[in-house]
This record gives sequence, C-alpha cells and structure tokens, in this order.
Amino acid sequence: MAQKPKVAFYWCASCGGCEEAVVDLEENILKVVDAVDIVLWPVAMDFKKKDIEAMEDGSIAVAFINGAVRMSEQEEWVHLLRKKAQMVVAFGACAHLGGIPGLANLNTKQQVFDTCYRDVPSNDNQAKTVPGLDSTVDGHHLHLPVFWDTVKSLAQVIDVDYYLPGCAPPPDLIWGAINAILTGQLPPKGAVLSPNKACCDDCPRKDTKPDKIEISEIKRPATHLMDPELCFMAQGFICMGPATRSGCGNRCIEGNMPCRGCFGPMDDVYDQGAKFLSAFASILAPKDEAGIDKLLDQIPDPTGTFYRFSLPTSLLHRRKTGAPV
Ligand code: SF4
Ligand code: SF4
Ligand code: SF4
Repeated sequence: MAQKPKVAFYWCASCGGCEEAVVDLEENILKVVDAVDIVLWPVAMDFKKKDIEAMEDGSIAVAFINGAVRMSEQEEWVHLLRKKAQMVVAFGACAHLGGIPGLANLNTKQQVFDTCYRDVPSNDNQAKTVPGLDSTVDGHHLHLPVFWDTVKSLAQVIDVDYYLPGCAPPPDLIWGAINAILTGQLPPKGAVLSPNKACCDDCPRKDTKPDKIEISEIKRPATHLMDPELCFMAQGFICMGPATRSGCGNRCIEGNMPCRGCFGPMDDVYDQGAKFLSAFASILAPKDEAGIDKLLDQIPDPTGTFYRFSLPTSLLHRRKTGAPV
C-alpha cells in the first residue's frame, strides 16, 4: 500500500483557536485522518520533539504552523519543521501577520512581564517573581525558553510556502487548502490561499455603501447601536473591510460587527493599516488640523484598531523602544 503523506500541525504563540479551527472541520477531519499520516499535533496527540528530529529531512509533506513566533523554543521548532517538511503553511493571522500577540510589539518584554506578573491588581505575587531562564527547586532544575522583546510572523523567521489567513481560518478554506495540497492543485509559492479581493466586494451590505462617505463622528460598537443592514462606514463605525482580503464569509458582518481585518491585506499591499489609513484620512469631514485631531481623539486605540492583526509585518514593525528587534 502506498504511504500516506505525512502532515504536521504545530502551534507557537497561539490562543488555541487555530487548533479549534482544525477540529471544526467536523466530519471532514475524518477524511483528513484517512488521507494523511499525522506525525505531530501537540494539542491533540503525544509526539515528542525527538520523534521529529529522527525523521529524514523533507519527509513531512506539509507542516501547518499557527501562532506568532516570540520565544526561542518556537524558533527552534519552526526551523526544525522547515527542515523536515517539503511545504510550510502559515496557518492563521498570527503566523501570517503576527496577529493579536504582535500588539505586544508596542512594549518591551520587561513591560509585558511587569504588567502580567506584577502590576495586574488580581495578581497575588508579593515576591514580584517573573519567569526566569533557570530555576532549581528541591534539586529539580527547570530551564525555560527565552522570551523575546519582539513578536514575529512565521515568514520573518523561516521560509513560508503558503498562507492560510484568518483568526482563525474558516473550515471551508482549511478544507480547500488541504484538498489543493493533496491533489497538487496549488497556486505559485508565496500565495495567500484566499481570494485576492476586498471584503467589501463580498459584503452583503455593499449596496448601502455610499460612493462618497464623510465621517464627522467616529462611533464604537461598545458605545453605539448598530444598524443591522447599513454599511458600517456609512454609519460612522470603522470597518477594515475596504483594506482586508475576502474569503471569511463575512463572519463579523453577518454577526453585525465591523470587519477588524484578520484576513490581512490583498496582494501587493505591504501595510494593511497604512492602506486603510490613507483611505480613511480622505473621508474625514473636518479639513482643519484641530477638527481632525478632535475627531481622531474618538479612537482610543489607533494601533489596535488599524493594526490589530498586522503590526509585526507592518512598515513600522514595532514601537521604537531600543529593545532588540
Ligand atoms: S490567528 Fe486567531 S485563532 Fe489563530 S492563534 Fe492567532 S489569535 Fe488564535
Ligand atoms: S465597509 Fe464594511 S460594512 Fe461597508 S461594504 Fe465594506 S465590508 Fe461591508
Ligand atoms: S469580517 Fe474581517 S475580521 Fe471578521 S473574519 Fe472576516 S476578515 Fe476577519
């Protein structure tokens, strides 16, 4: 019997949602299990690093890697998988663009540790302990990975063959990608496996999007009611749909929430946030500096709004703090 292609799933700095997305394949997961030999899936099965190290280079057909890369252990793993796999797919927004964990690039590692382990009021950490590299308790030695100052996308660390976008990628896109890989019907290397058009093109509200929009008040979903049928931008809510790749099935818009941009930019757009900002700046109603400042003050978190998923792969990459990049 012919050998089944070997497939690896791995997670780096991930919330686990991308792993859930694989499980969300429902009955198709049985087809995947039938068609391939899963050699690594830490969230679901007990494989050891030494099992992968012992494999021949290139013997894994495809490695799906989700999560951003922010620790030395993750760097070691992705280099190992790059060596062992013929194809690497960056799975989900964090691997593709840096994702939500990439917003930590606004801070240094020390600031992240201070917030998480020392300053949060719900912490009971009177000794102000933060994770160290080495510790010994009762003769047992523990060595932890190095936590970096800067969060990186997968392609900032290793060569990536394809990108499966989304937070998390939807099951139909995952299934389509697996099918394309199994049947060899893949686009050229480097492609994002989702249609190269804007969310607005597929949006059920696109006919309500005026040709000319003027924004004189910026509304927020947390503080304003949203019309369930009208284009969000026409209502004054920031919707990243014009600068975001389609293919998600308009998941947020169907749930009456503006697009936050998790599918990333279309081809040939380097910086999704800058692309949106240049369009957004042209539709602000005030034309004088004071009026523009007043309007922009209504956005409490500009980076988290325009670069929610893509800060590490943006032109700015991270806040300049003097921290290593
Ligand atoms: S892309 Fe979204 S679902 Fe996937 S690991 Fe990142 S935050 Fe979680
Ligand atoms: S801006 Fe948002 S709500 Fe309006 S058409 Fe585009 S995706 Fe739809
Ligand atoms: S609507 Fe936007 S944020 Fe929501 S899933 Fe689609 S691409 Fe992602």
